[in-house]
Amino acid sequence: MSLYIILMGVQGAGKGEQARVIQETYGIPQVSTGDLFRAMKTRTDPLAQKIQQIMAEGKLIDDDTTNAVVEDRLGQDDAKNGVIFDGFPRTPAQAAWLDQYLEKRGAHVNAVLLLELDFYTAFKRSFGRVKSDATGKTYNIYFNDDGITEWKFVDHPQNEYPPRLRAVESTGGVLSRRPDDANAHAILKRIDTFRELTAPLITYYEQKRPGLLVRIDADQSIETVSAAVKAAIDARN
Ligand code: AMP
Repeated sequence: MSLYIILMGVQGAGKGEQARVIQETYGIPQVSTGDLFRAMKTRTDPLAQKIQQIMAEGKLIDDDTTNAVVEDRLGQDDAKNGVIFDGFPRTPAQAAWLDQYLEKRGAHVNAVLLLELDFYTAFKRSFGRVKSDATGKTYNIYFNDDGITEWKFVDHPQNEYPPRLRAVESTGGVLSRRPDDANAHAILKRIDTFRELTAPLITYYEQKRPGLLVRIDADQSIETVSAAVKAAIDARN
């Protein structure tokens, strides 16, 4: 039986982290549209370049391009028994496209897990998030700074606003932000976009089938959220 899970939530709600847990537990791959778009960074064609610019501004990529990228990913061999969507669908048009796509293949969305987080905490989770270039380990200057020896805001090289965050890991490694986390305006834009375009999907899935959408408090430890996520998926298997 195939298993299609949607992880929904504002940026910073911990979708990526939970997707990794589901991937390990249920053996279905994570499909993160953000990761798929970021992977195009090295491409030099105009579409890939335009996508990087739109992402840096915190805006959404258009629905047709996004759906085409997802369709391509779902056609790959490891996705044949289902996937966990992280960051997709983000608009009603994407949700409608996904329903049609799955219906044609005799499948459907099995669970929509909404990771609920207040917007102020969401802002700090994104703005304070840094990652080790060397090990890939992530920290947060507000919530998880064990292992960070030093962090400070420094002026932007061209004195632009906002200032840059510079952090150093206890091993001496440099910690850096994702380009779309580094800009306070872009984070606010992403939160606003969630409120305007993605939040209506909550009603869409709630009305589609009773019990399809499950609300999970994301302002808890990763382990507690994971336990709630697994319970919600098992209840639907
Ligand atoms: P994420 O890693 O999910 O925060 O996504 C990073 C950026 O990729 C977003 O701010 C958008 O610019 C773009 N993106 C990711 N997923 C989608 C989507 N489903 N629709 C449109 N744009 C997306």
